[in-house]
Amino acid sequence: MDCIFCKIISRQIPAKIIQETSHSIAFLDAFPLTKGHTLIIPKNHHMKIQDMNPEENSDLFLLVHKVLSKVDKLTGSTLVAVHNGKDAGQEVPHVHVHLVPRTLGDSAGPIHNMFKTVKFSDSEIEEIYDKLK
Ligand code: 5GP
Ligand code: ZN
Repeated sequence: MDCIFCKIISRQIPAKIIQETSHSIAFLDAFPLTKGHTLIIPKNHHMKIQDMNPEENSDLFLLVHKVLSKVDKLTGSTLVAVHNGKDAGQEVPHVHVHLVPRTLGDSAGPIHNMFKTVKFSDSEIEEIYDKLK
């Protein structure tokens, strides 16, 4: 499997590993957006969160919970993010949760800064709500 994160798991390429469990591993991002930028991934190769089985999913988010308590102490605020699919900005096709320590002065702002403002009609919202509920 030609996947950079699978190679980190099998120790074919080095990484600064913070903690690991039977199903998951946390390590520092090699190109950090801020100091302490951490990635948490399942050990089995899955592209999207919904591809993991419930045990892998629970293990991953338990490790997120544990490591977040350390990372969040760095600045007091953390962006927790998953790009779930290529068109959502996912560059490495192996599930990963980003923990990015944030500060008031960084340039990232709230989630609405990522998108152009769009208005949806009530019927469009009703239609999508019907699909999802
Ligand atoms: P994405 O853009 O898919 O949400 O995030 C992929 C992340 O993986 C990026 O933040 C990038 O810096 C990180 N990354 C890419 N290659 C490597 C690597 O070889 N080692 C580590 N530790 N992180 C990497
Ligand atoms: Zn992989």
